[in-house]
Amino acid sequence: MTFNALWLTDPKIDKVSAKLSSVNEASLSPLPVTLRVLYSSLNYKDALALCAKAPVIRQFPLIPGIDMIGEVIASESLQWPIGKLAVVTGWGIGEQYHGGLAEKFSAKTEWLTVLPEEISPLDAALIGTAGLTAMLAVLQLEQQGITPEKGPIAVSGASGGVGSFSTWILAQLGYEVIAVSGDRHAEEYLVESLGAHSIIPRSELSESGKKLQAERWAGAIDCVGSHTLANLLAATQRSGCVVACGMAQGLELNTSVAPFILRNIRLIGIDSVYCETAQRNAAWQRFAVLLSRSPLPIPFQTITLEQAIEFADLLLKGEVRGRIVVQTNV
Ligand code: NDP
Repeated sequence: MTFNALWLTDPKIDKVSAKLSSVNEASLSPLPVTLRVLYSSLNYKDALALCAKAPVIRQFPLIPGIDMIGEVIASESLQWPIGKLAVVTGWGIGEQYHGGLAEKFSAKTEWLTVLPEEISPLDAALIGTAGLTAMLAVLQLEQQGITPEKGPIAVSGASGGVGSFSTWILAQLGYEVIAVSGDRHAEEYLVESLGAHSIIPRSELSESGKKLQAERWAGAIDCVGSHTLANLLAATQRSGCVVACGMAQGLELNTSVAPFILRNIRLIGIDSVYCETAQRNAAWQRFAVLLSRSPLPIPFQTITLEQAIEFADLLLKGEVRGRIVVQTNV
């Protein structure tokens, strides 16, 4: 038996290393649960892998795709009977293990998260790793006692995947969101669609600044790292909390201990790839609550597996707006 999948071979050996192929089921690892993939999504990491632009894939040949929403079609687990819907994000899928850009997917039980019934498979694909990361960041702010009454929350990289979800979730929960964005055309989207209260230009935070500045926000969700993260920390009010999610500006962080020892600021990191199942369940349950009140306002387009290679190239060139959902079984 065969199924369709994007198939990556070593770019050092093959000139064209990404192809839509008919893959033999025997190529899937013998794992306890097999799923019919309903949707995957195309993330920046997937685009890098498909276009061989960065060493995302740790072993070849491999099926890419770091997100997968599917229905169980064969199972050795009583917990995962045939017909049950599951979400898998992270855990090394699409990097070290075969991923979701395929019609079929083989999973370890610990990778599977129950898809709450309030969330459609399409919405789950739209949320994917970006939405999960944002929700984990918001849950951290809550756990650190940063409630809406404490003051505004800054979100950097606000028009991107993690930033958009962070802005929307925070606004839905009653926080005043200050969106930090370099996209001059995103104002309507950030304010009208996502619910941001105000916008500050990315350039205000992107250069090296004083290590302690006037207090401007109770907390922040940072998607870009580097000077932006240092400035977010420097302008966080006493006992506030900054959650670091990404590195779109850079990996480095040049700050001082001043925000931590003089203002009791906390800096917390998010790793959505290997986060525990309990945290994932909590995050998906919060999405279920939010979606029962309001639809997702995140723009997206649905493509087929066949179109994914072309869209990966466009995504890396910055020519795609919104999320890309891949409908794998059409
Ligand atoms: P996107 O590419 O969708 O968004 C990144 C946003 O950052 C852009 O839209 C832009 O927003 C802003 N940005 C881009 N370049 C720069 C720059 N040079 N300086 C400042 N801002 C910039 O990515 P995602 O939202 O999917 O991911 C954001 C980050 O989070 C990435 O670094 C990604 O690797 C990381 N990530 C981390 C995860 C984790 O588990 N910790 C999981 C998923 C992603 P704007 O135009 O509004 O300024």
